[in-house]
Formats: sequence, structure tokens, C-alpha cells
Amino acid sequence: MPARPVRRTALSLALVLLSAAPRSAAAAERSEIPDRYKWNLSELYADEAAWQKARADAAARLPSLSAFRGHLGDSPEALWKALDALFALDLDLTRLYVYASARSDEDTRAAGPRELKQAAQRLGVDFGAASSWIRPEIISLDAERVRAFQKAEPRLAPYRVYLEEALRWKPHTLSAAEENILAEAGNLTGAGQAAYGILKDADLPWPTVKLSTGVEARLDPATFSLHRASPARADRDLVFQAFFGAVKGFERTFGTTLDAALKAHLFNAKVRRFASPLEASLFRNNVPTSIYTQLIADVRRSLPTFHRYLKLRARLLGVEKLRYQDLYVPMVGAVDLSFKPDEARDITLEAFRPLGKDYVAALRKGYQSGWTDYLPSTGKRAGAYSTGVYGVHPYQLLNFNGKYDDLSTLAHESGHSMHTALAFAAQPYPTSDYPIFVAEVASTLNEALLFDHMLGKAKDEATRLALLGNRLDGLRGTLFRQTQFAEFELAVHQRVEKGEPVTGEALSRLYLEIVRAYYGHDQGVCQVEDLIAAEWAYVPHFYYDFYVFQYATSLVASSAIAAGIREEARRGTGTAARDRYLAMLAAGGSKFPVDLLKDAGVDMTTSRPFEAAIAAMNATMDEMEKLLARQKTK
Ligand SMILES: [Zn+2]
Repeated sequence: MPARPVRRTALSLALVLLSAAPRSAAAAERSEIPDRYKWNLSELYADEAAWQKARADAAARLPSLSAFRGHLGDSPEALWKALDALFALDLDLTRLYVYASARSDEDTRAAGPRELKQAAQRLGVDFGAASSWIRPEIISLDAERVRAFQKAEPRLAPYRVYLEEALRWKPHTLSAAEENILAEAGNLTGAGQAAYGILKDADLPWPTVKLSTGVEARLDPATFSLHRASPARADRDLVFQAFFGAVKGFERTFGTTLDAALKAHLFNAKVRRFASPLEASLFRNNVPTSIYTQLIADVRRSLPTFHRYLKLRARLLGVEKLRYQDLYVPMVGAVDLSFKPDEARDITLEAFRPLGKDYVAALRKGYQSGWTDYLPSTGKRAGAYSTGVYGVHPYQLLNFNGKYDDLSTLAHESGHSMHTALAFAAQPYPTSDYPIFVAEVASTLNEALLFDHMLGKAKDEATRLALLGNRLDGLRGTLFRQTQFAEFELAVHQRVEKGEPVTGEALSRLYLEIVRAYYGHDQGVCQVEDLIAAEWAYVPHFYYDFYVFQYATSLVASSAIAAGIREEARRGTGTAARDRYLAMLAAGGSKFPVDLLKDAGVDMTTSRPFEAAIAAMNATMDEMEKLLARQKTK
């Protein structure tokens, strides 16, 4: 749907949210950083004056869209002309936005770039308003007529997915009058989430604790994620007690805000004639609900593997009884390696060799031609993301500090960027944007290749152990924690569907029950104290209905694809698995996500890909236990 010209960027923002990267200490002023470590935005616009001119030009073209109104069904050519104008504007607005937001991210303090970004956002809103009639008008057309148009007009070929996507909504679209009421209701249904945001970000009196290091830390959600990984157990206890104590104090209010959001999800599902909020949410990406429920069943079935990991973690931390408070300190210790940006680039290019010469050459060229903004500087936006402009190339923002995690982030974002580059090269603009459901496959696959490569290269046992531990901790966070969230999310929606009361207290009881089952509390694997029950309350993702499961499914898909590529490389049996995968990347958004993955050899409607992820996790633990046994006998 090109209704918003900022889709790829919006996705990246959501991803940055989850990684919750701790704010890095700013190293330098941007002016002190050599140009070869900066992205080259002049390929988008020579200067700000050129941007302003392009903005004015796009703004002047917006009203012309209305000339097509009421005429989409006139002829195949009329439909093509309208879509052509729509997508040309969409591309221009994306370009304007990416430039403005990238400039603003370089120094978030600077007012000038921030104003550019606001101007681009305003234009995006105007574009949304000027084009909002197009999809409803397509939906109102007879589907057979639209398909006959496509047969008659070859220039409509790039718009096939867009048109099919619109027509798919036909059974869930209401009369014009009802749609108007729904649009008005949209102003009310966000109240729960809005109140949650204000409470969490502004009003809640977050506690301050004094750590054994002498540091006084105010524990809000961002600093909590930093200090919960404290190496001192007593500090972790203090941090968990104080943070969840504060959350618990507002359990009833958080319950009310989440209840309001859940009821909004149910309202939207009902009026649009979906069987459930789950179905309504997954319909947007055309993903069957069975994939969601199967993921939960697969993870539940694999809890013994998860418990094996938890026991190994207890052993490595040297604690007799593992507790939920002991999950965030690295199980081995940080990977004690450091890298210069140029070294990191070379390492990723080495690591991605299983993807073939062309892939590596294209990325090398990208690294050399201004795709990447590497280094942190004062005022620069925190975290990392990848975006891009069709007809130009991908752009990626990093805050590279030379640690292993930074290397891993470079691999991750380069995975997104190469996905973008390959899709740009192979697809027309309307199908160049890949769906969210497959986005994290390319990034996590490259992380897996990096891990293989680093493990193969690591000579000393301490580094090997740290790499293995880092990998396992990542799997815990992505595969098990996100699915545990997904299961809770499904359960609370079902509660609302059944008309059962949703209070903060009830949510806490339910949450604790699920977490205890996952962590083997009753079997003595990991102790989950009562205070953990309130954890659900501060997690923002429950307000985006059914989003987080995609982190787990992406990892499942990339594990299966990586296993296939690894296997054929080891056996020397050709490059079929690799070629299928690269073809999927190049296919961009030309198909629906489940079909894209099927083409890459991964059938997400079965449990097979999941087995590959669990096998990889077990192999990592086998390797670790072997190393530990050897250390013991020394
Ligand atoms: Zn990502």
C-alpha cells in the first residue's frame, strides 16, 4: 500500500524500538569524522535548495490526483494513468522524506534539518489525504473488471500486487457511510495506547537506586534494560525489585490502558467482519493465523531445549539456583574483541561469502559508495537502521563503537540493505518494497553467517565460548521471549473476545503463569518470583496488535535457509539453496510473504523450518559443552 510514503522507514523505526540499544556515549563532533565514514546524501539532492525545489514541485502536483477521481473504472488506460501518477508522487515523497530524516538523524539537536523533516512529514499527510480515495474506489470496482483491465493493459503489470492487495479487502470494506463512521471512531480507539505512553514516559515516578558501583541510577524502561544486565547479583536484585515495584504500583492503571487497546482491536476486527483480532491483524500481511498458533505450539514443544539452555546458563554463571533476575547478564561475558570500521567491513564481506561472489561484490561496492553512516557523534540518533530510495541505493545508519555487537549490527543492517538493493535492481518501483513478514529474514541470516565465520576463526577457547554464549542469549531473546509475548498477547485478546474482565491483576496472574511455564519454574529450572508478574505492564509491543511474533518467525525462516546454504556448501552439492534465497530477496514485494518464503525453500505453514532453528540451538550448546568439558580436564 503506497498510501504512506514512509513505509520502509516506519518499519525500521519499529525495529530500532525493539533492539532498545543503550544510548552510546557520543564520541566526537560530526565535523571531525572523515567523509569515508559518512553516508552520501548528495546523491539524493545536491543541496538543501534542490530539496526545497523538489518539495515545492511535489506539493504542486498533489492536487492533480483529484482529476482521476471517479474515473478509475473508465478504461484500462485511465486506471494505469492514475496509478502511474500515484506511484510517481509516492517515490518523490519517499526521496524527500529519507533525505530530510537522514539529515535530522545526523544531529537531532539541529533545528534546520528537523524543520525539513517536519515539512516532509506534512507533505506525507497531505499526500495521504489527496490519495485516500484511490483504494476505496478500486475496491468498489468489480474484481473481474479490474483483472480484465490488467490483461488488456500491459503497463498495469507492475501494479498487479497493489491491485490484488486492494481487492483482497473487498469483503472487509463497508459502505461509504460506515467507513466514515469508522474513520471518526479511529480518533477514539487510540486513547488506551496514548494514556499508556504518557504514564510510562512522563508521569510514572520511576525509582532511583544506588548500585554497588556507587552509580545512582534512575530506572526508567531504557535504563532498566541497561542495569538489569549488571554483573553484580545484588545490583540486579535491587534493580528488578525497584523497577517492577514501581510498575506494580500502577498495575490497575496499566490494566485499564491495555484493556482499552484490546477492546479497540476487537472493535476493528468485528466491524470489518474478521473472525478475531488475530485474523484481522495477520490479514494485513496475508499471513494465515495457523502460522501464529503453530509457532506457539512449536516453542511450547521445544521448552526442554530452552531449559537445557537455562541450566547451562546457571552453570556458567556459577549460581546454584537460576532466577529470572539472572537472564540478562551475558552467560559467558562480553565477546572480548574489538574492530575498526574498515576491519568490520572486511569481516562481514568474508562472512557473507556463502552468498556468492555477486552478493559480496555488490555489498563491497555499497560500502565504498556512501551507503553507510558509521560512527557515533554528538547529537546523532541512537541505534541503527536501514532504509533506501528506489533508483538511488540503500542507506544505513550505525553507531559503531568497535565492539562485537556493533559488528553484528553491521551484518544485520547490511542484510536489510542488500535485500533492498537486490529488490531495487530486479523490481519496478511498485513491487520493490518487501513485506514486513520477510524483512528480518535477510538481516538475521547475515547475523548467522557472521557467527559461523567468527566461530570458525576464533582460536582461543574464551572467545569461542563468548561467541557461543552471545548466540544463545540472542536465541533466547528472539525465539523464546518474543513467542512468550505472542502467547500472552493471544491469550489476553481471547479473554476480551469472550467478554471476560481484563484487569491489571488478572493480566498479571496470566502473565506469571505463562512465564513460569516457559522458564520451568515448577520444575526448578529457573525461579520466577511473584514480582515478575507485572512485567507485561511496561512492554509497548502489546499495543501493536500481533507484531512481535514476526521476530521469531523471521529467525525460524532464516535458520532454515542458513542451514540449507551451509549444508550444500559443506557437501559441495551446488548452489540451489543459495540461489533460491537470492531470488527471494530480488523478488522484493512482488508476491505475498508466505509465498516468497516458499520460493526460498521454507514452508512456514509447517513445523519443518522451526526444527532447523532448534537444531542450530542444540548444536551451539553441544559445542559449548564440549569446550567446557575440555576446560575441566585441563
Ligand atoms: Zn532489522
